[in-house]
Amino acid sequence: MPDTTGTVPGRPTTTDGRPATTSGAAVRLRDLTKRYGGRAAVDRVSLDIGAGEFMTFLGPSGSGKTTTLDMIAGFTTATEGAITVDGTEVAALPPHQRDLGMVFQHYALFPHLTVARNIAFPLEQRKVPRAEIGRRVTEALRMVQLDGMADRLPRQLSGGQQQRVALARAVVFNPRVLLMDEPLGALDKKLREQLQGEIARMHRDLGITFVFVTHDQEEALALSDRIAVFNEGRIEQVGTPEELYEAPATLFVAQFLGESNVFTGHCRTPGVLSCPDGDLPVPPGATAGPEEVALVVRPERMRLLAPGDPVPGGHHHLDGTVTETVYFGAHRRVAVDLPGGHRLQLREPAGQEHPAVPGTAARVVWAVERSALVPVAP
Ligand code: ADP
Ligand code: MG
Repeated sequence: MPDTTGTVPGRPTTTDGRPATTSGAAVRLRDLTKRYGGRAAVDRVSLDIGAGEFMTFLGPSGSGKTTTLDMIAGFTTATEGAITVDGTEVAALPPHQRDLGMVFQHYALFPHLTVARNIAFPLEQRKVPRAEIGRRVTEALRMVQLDGMADRLPRQLSGGQQQRVALARAVVFNPRVLLMDEPLGALDKKLREQLQGEIARMHRDLGITFVFVTHDQEEALALSDRIAVFNEGRIEQVGTPEELYEAPATLFVAQFLGESNVFTGHCRTPGVLSCPDGDLPVPPGATAGPEEVALVVRPERMRLLAPGDPVPGGHHHLDGTVTETVYFGAHRRVAVDLPGGHRLQLREPAGQEHPAVPGTAARVVWAVERSALVPVAP
């Protein structure tokens, strides 16, 4: 089992490169478990989230992301395990004493209260003096670019604007951690991308710790300092977007983040994967063993040559037949069928001198060191 706790990177910097005056808290999960009946929804999750870090929980529906977040927030009681915020055990504290902001997929605004009153609510609960409430609400409105909307009711706002109000309300009392559960899930693509940019800016400017839940891999790659990949109640890997993409630890991670060509087989001889497509060289460092393993090659790492072309050093080749090409402007997708029927997917930069022609023979090559060997079962 790989160490999925992860190493905490350094503190973030602001938009202009200065270190943020971080008031974020470090969050530490140890063997966190939630069982419903006999079934573990979250199964011994351990993770260190750094002060000021942007950490994303990424995984398919039902993988335990919300349950984990709700245990941090205090809405769900852990069956076992520990949660500390800056070293303090929080299990016994009710949600409002945990100093955490929270944003959900559905805006959860009070429909009968104005935007300003919605944002003021957490400050009123904390008995902040009236004059200071006014000042902080104005500041929060400006941060989410809703100046001038203070007196509107939620129903007079678009979905994106309502979610901005929810963001403002979640940070107006200066929490040290902001928890977000699929906050952009209900918005259309264009609005989602716009709000992604704003969430990234808020993170840089506030300097607090963000824990963000999504099932959208592109959103996770674009926003996160690090990503924890959830599968069936466990974390399969924790790493920076680049680490996860370039060096997935499991087949699940390779397939959930980005596209992959997968060759499944066994490494009984060191350095060689025996699979239905033949014997393939594996990257250095892989050891032989009885377990089923998979060699993963990203579509953009495969290149197309003409049949019989010389194979560059350090590369491996497979010969097949081009079956499909689709033009996407900046790139072209090319499908190549191997003799056994395995279909490879390639992503070729546009403007190649000799674009692939369906029905013709072709040679596929890739640099062995740019492939990854992963266990099929974690
Ligand atoms: P995600 O947010 O990744 O989609 P969840 O954390 O919501 O996943 O759910 C993880 C698993 O726990 C699922 O199988 C879900 O059905 C189960 N689960 C969540 N909440 C409850 C509950 N209150 N009672 C029983 N099972 C639950
Ligand atoms: Mg969920």
